[in-house]
Amino acid sequence: MTDHPTEAPRPATEPEHSPPKPPPLRRGRSYFVHYGEVGLKKGNRPYFETRLVRNLHYTLRGLRVMGIHRIYGRLRIDQELDGDRGELLRRLSRVHGVSHVLPIERFGWDLGPIEARLAEWAGEGGFESFAIRCRRIQKSYPHRSQDLMVRLGAIVGERSGARVDLRAPEVEFSVLILNREVILSRERISGPGGLPTGTAGRVLHMLSGGIDSPVAAERLLRRGCHLQFVHFHSSPFTDRSSIEKTTELANILTRHRMRSKLHLVPLGLLQQRIVQDAPARWRVMLYRRSMLRIAARIAGWNQCKALGSGENLAQVASQTLENLAVLDETVALPLLRPLLSYDKEEIVEEARRIGTYEVSTEPHADCCGYLLPRRPVTDGTVEEVREIEAALDLSEELEEVHSRTEVVTLPDLDREPPGEE
Ligand code: ATP
Ligand code: MG
Repeated sequence: MTDHPTEAPRPATEPEHSPPKPPPLRRGRSYFVHYGEVGLKKGNRPYFETRLVRNLHYTLRGLRVMGIHRIYGRLRIDQELDGDRGELLRRLSRVHGVSHVLPIERFGWDLGPIEARLAEWAGEGGFESFAIRCRRIQKSYPHRSQDLMVRLGAIVGERSGARVDLRAPEVEFSVLILNREVILSRERISGPGGLPTGTAGRVLHMLSGGIDSPVAAERLLRRGCHLQFVHFHSSPFTDRSSIEKTTELANILTRHRMRSKLHLVPLGLLQQRIVQDAPARWRVMLYRRSMLRIAARIAGWNQCKALGSGENLAQVASQTLENLAVLDETVALPLLRPLLSYDKEEIVEEARRIGTYEVSTEPHADCCGYLLPRRPVTDGTVEEVREIEAALDLSEELEEVHSRTEVVTLPDLDREPPGEE
């Protein structure tokens, strides 16, 4: 598509009526951002909209955006002509709360320039069927929607040689009549939907470097949570590969979306104690309960109201219903497990879609793989684990681990996301 300045066009012919003056437009490009679920929240709508606008300002930094305006239940973004259009659309398609985006062109009420532009688009060809959709929000506009559709459809049909298909057209031209202007569009880019980040509170998410936890993070982001991340590693007993991977994953999840933090916790010392002094079958559960305790403390320092994880019912020994119950009672904070009922294929598909799969499948030294027992406990009870923990007394190691925790600030925009040069 050729970029078209949205300067108010001069009427080609004398109008037969006296339309309102078109608004004074600066040279630039415009986009409509539609938000699905945000629009449904009646009383809270201004709160969600304000948050979405704020998030969009953050996301679109550096792309020469002139303004973001609320109009008719959608947002209009205006961008300078020399701003990067492709990058703007790419970023918008990742903003939670956005259902879809339309690049638009703005005209006055006069039909001449509108017909000329549609004829130009039709002349570019490349489609065999099309539909024209007209909506008249301003009812005093002198042409009825139905008449407009017929009139404009005839022009497009004649110019392109394509047929009208109202049910499944290859291209959809939309014409929206507003108070002082007419909006044309022919392209629609899907967004992720959901709710704007930050509207559902702050969560500390446990990121392991595997496939599941980044997908779980995306699900929480989609419900409006603001995330910080925590990763447990066994360095210096293992290499730093899991740290590298997790930083990369956290960067993909936050890039152009929000500022955040990744807490890197060295669990090795504590794991050594568990391996030495606790029954082997309980090792993984003891690692996990320690992780939760540490995470809860970091959450407290960072005003996070819940912990998130990629746990999935019955996926592995530590995720049987009995063991999940043993994990649940470790800390008072709610544990959010958005993938609890997913199939692995569904998770993998989503990981590919959000761009984390490739990084997640690179090999890394997993801290829970550290001296794994041959037969881990699958039906643990709270009484048993409490007894083992009381005998162990890990309080010293827990303090040590906290004092050695590092914090990385996100996102790191200098890190190229995978697949982009
Ligand atoms: P995989 O795709 O290998 O299953 P996973 O991330 O789901 O990766 P699991 O062993 O199933 O790993 O762990 C369940 C959940 O526990 C993870 O999704 C993650 O939220 C949390 N977790 C496990 N290990 C770690 C770790 N080293 N650091 C932070 N969180 C972890
Ligand atoms: Mg898993």
